[in-house]
Amino acid sequence: MEQERMEVFLERFRQEPPSYIRVLEKQALAEDVPIIRRGTQDVLRFLLRTREPERLLEIGTAIGYSALFMKECLPEKSRITTIEKVEMRLVEARKNLAEYDKEGRIRLLEGEAAEKLHELVKKGETFDFIFMDAAKGQYLNFLPDVAALLTPSGLLVSDNIWHEGDVMESRYAVTRRDRTIHGRMREYLQAITHHEQLETICLPVGDGMTISQKRN
Ligand code: SAM
Repeated sequence: MEQERMEVFLERFRQEPPSYIRVLEKQALAEDVPIIRRGTQDVLRFLLRTREPERLLEIGTAIGYSALFMKECLPEKSRITTIEKVEMRLVEARKNLAEYDKEGRIRLLEGEAAEKLHELVKKGETFDFIFMDAAKGQYLNFLPDVAALLTPSGLLVSDNIWHEGDVMESRYAVTRRDRTIHGRMREYLQAITHHEQLETICLPVGDGMTISQKRN
């Protein structure tokens, strides 16, 4: 409740993105597509505008909303690579990127993220900002490749770490279906907060997010 009141209060101070972003957001919410919340958008905007990363990697495109939102926060020289595997989402993402990324600053990689991450590592690609927003139960599996792809001083932002508050509950208080994700997310939090290459902060913003910086 307090968080909801705060969200409503903060709305009046929020900087507005280009109008097409809000149209896409409305569309996504109407169609139950899970996209980044307003609080998460605020943090991403701040980080992207202050750090101006040149090569950003997103894991979990959905319909391309957050990729387009982030593009609008970045200088022209910055490029975004985003990964998605579900065809139903890809259909919309291709359409939205064709319409709103005419400059071709966003590269869509179609397929399973674990495979795409391996390929990026093999090719020797690196990123100075990584936004993790895919299947919550997979974050831990992605971590070794993500840590390898991140440049020294680069930032890793992971979204939905509360999993609607479930992560804080006892294992027995969550439904059976969510128990695996619950356990894996706790393991992921343990891993990134104790990772020798990462310095991490957990923030109660949106559905919970973490920001990690890779040590030099
Ligand atoms: N970042 C998007 C936004 O805010 O506009 C929302 C992403 S949504 C929360 C998560 C997306 O990750 C879904 O579209 C899902 O299909 C995709 N996804 C989940 N697991 C994946 C995997 N292993 N490989 C590729 N995509 C995956």
